[in-house]
Amino acid sequence: MQEASTSFIDMRSLQSAAGEVLARACGAEAGMVTGGAAASNLLMAAACMAGNDPSKIDRLPDTTGMKDEVVLFDGQRNHYDSNYEIAGATIVPWGFAGSGKAYQLEEAITDSTCAMAWIAAPFQRYPIPFAEAAEIAHARGIPVIVDAAAEVPPPENLTRFISEGADMVGFSGGKGIGGPQGTGMLVGRKELVTAAYENHLNSNGTRAGVGRSAKTSKEDIVGLVTALQIFTDTDHEVVWAGWRSAAEHIVDRLDGIDGLRVVLEDGDPNRQGPQAVIYFERGWDGPTSDEVCATLRDGDPAIHVGAGGYADEINIVMVNVQPGEERIIADRLQEILSN
Ligand SMILES: *Cc1c(COP(=O)(O)O)cnc(C)c1O
Repeated sequence: MQEASTSFIDMRSLQSAAGEVLARACGAEAGMVTGGAAASNLLMAAACMAGNDPSKIDRLPDTTGMKDEVVLFDGQRNHYDSNYEIAGATIVPWGFAGSGKAYQLEEAITDSTCAMAWIAAPFQRYPIPFAEAAEIAHARGIPVIVDAAAEVPPPENLTRFISEGADMVGFSGGKGIGGPQGTGMLVGRKELVTAAYENHLNSNGTRAGVGRSAKTSKEDIVGLVTALQIFTDTDHEVVWAGWRSAAEHIVDRLDGIDGLRVVLEDGDPNRQGPQAVIYFERGWDGPTSDEVCATLRDGDPAIHVGAGGYADEINIVMVNVQPGEERIIADRLQEILSN
């Protein structure tokens, strides 16, 4: 990233070379580096509405004369779907929070629909299989855009959504891939990724469009490509073995506290690798899980743990734990929970 900062290059050539690396890693036709998965959401929506048309790109977020409805399962609404709206789209939810049927998706698609969005995330609810939803959208000529921001690891998820029918997929560069915090990936069909890039750069238009706020630096592009190459070259079995033994250390340290069930959770796709999980059981009469989280957060060093999941639980997400930190976490938890 430091070297990139002192080099000068045509941004189109750099993005296009980076895009090839991203596309190859994801089994897609094309790719680009964005300013985060949220920015990918914005650009995917813009691409589906304005395409490559400079006058439409200029006009967004005013969608006059464009198809501008994004259909999205109600149970997948989340705090990042506002990025479709920032581009100018209107979200049309289908189904109800807990359930959705194929006919409800079909009904939600109209002549104004520009895309079907799908949110893939840990502990997310899927009303029908993704591939089936994609088929319904495609039968109506509607592109499918996926927000898979936090879906890696495992590395297999890089190719999964494209192979199951997605037209474009966004990933966060700063989460499991371990790239610069302010980066994301957007991969998919060439025509659509090119449109996303035009919305981003807007070099042909007269105004900087909505995609310009998703700007990416040459340093970030080089940083993300490097991180992705390291990520795909990594033996994740070895990494997970390290997470497993760090999680086991925490589990061993918290052994035998009444009212708590502390276990190593391993092999659950929602957990994306081995985790130490503390379940707060009926017999527990100490501080609540929320109070424990707050105490950890307010301590020195501050410790941020996961909560929620299947039950009343605290989970230690090992991707965030640097070697040796599991000892600090285990000691602190032991102190709070056995007091
Ligand atoms: C984290 C996340 C995002 C945002 O990712 P950034 O790379 O931080 O912009 C978007 N969507 C989902 C589902 C996420 O989990």
